[in-house]
Amino acid sequence: MLLVRRTGPVRVAAHRRMRGAGCAWGRMNGTAQIVIDRVSHTYRPARGRAVLALSDVSLEVRPREFLALLGPSGCGKSTLLYLVGGFLPTETGRILVEGKPVVKPGPDRGIVFQHFALFPWKTVRSNILYGLERQKLPPAERTKRAQDFINLVGLAGFEDSYPSQLSGGMKQRTAIARTLAFDPNILLMDEPFGALDAQTRSLMQTELLNIWKRTPKTVIFVTHDVQEAVYLADRIAVMSARPGRIKTIVENKFGERDASILRSKEFVERVDEIWNLVRDEAIKAQETKAP
Ligand code: ADP
Ligand code: MG
Repeated sequence: MLLVRRTGPVRVAAHRRMRGAGCAWGRMNGTAQIVIDRVSHTYRPARGRAVLALSDVSLEVRPREFLALLGPSGCGKSTLLYLVGGFLPTETGRILVEGKPVVKPGPDRGIVFQHFALFPWKTVRSNILYGLERQKLPPAERTKRAQDFINLVGLAGFEDSYPSQLSGGMKQRTAIARTLAFDPNILLMDEPFGALDAQTRSLMQTELLNIWKRTPKTVIFVTHDVQEAVYLADRIAVMSARPGRIKTIVENKFGERDASILRSKEFVERVDEIWNLVRDEAIKAQETKAP
């Protein structure tokens, strides 16, 4: 059976009481690593109208949880991820990571973008080493770490290749290795497989699950793909069409999460149920005119 928990007023009231007592929710209940507390975000472009991208979003993410943020295009998923990453300032509400407000990007939060953000003039190895150089690790340790992560994502033999010599899947694996190499506690992934063909995408999803099982991290994985969310995530936060709100949070447990579940009846039914939850939002998003 599908477990759906709506974020209700009781929860918000409890949260407010804790704020009043000067305590962060995460430290109070000891379970949340990331606390997003009544966050709204408005873009104010130099030209054109202001856009309310997120409205009153509250969400908690537990340590080592794999959470999918699922919603139609334009609902504010990337905005929320960039706020957690510290790439955008939080103007309304607050975001805490391990009890501390997010004010800027930090090595505790690694981000993987939709489009592989690799340096085209650097090889696979140099791209991965780049993040480590900035951490000022001793050279021998850096090289070993880079090689470990090259091996982990299956790119052994391609260390000296340039991005232009790699397939889309290999570029994305390089980007993931670069982020994993500096060992962030939290991985923020923004539709990381969105630009890949269906076959590569499916291989990469399985690969990501394998990596996550080997080196468990807290993951927020943004996607608009219901099947991808159901395959990967422990919980799925379904967002409404813009302005983005958390519409529903779905517990998405499976016994053993591997590629064999994709053909199970339980999986197909779960995808159907969640698709029913997001369909209305997808229709609304299509009807919403661009600002
Ligand atoms: P998603 O990732 O869910 O597709 P985004 O977070 O990218 O959505 O965007 C949410 C809304 O904010 C969209 O309507 C988008 O057009 C708008 N938006 C995003 N970035 C900017 C920006 N820099 N300036 C103005 N509006 C923006
Ligand atoms: Mg986006």
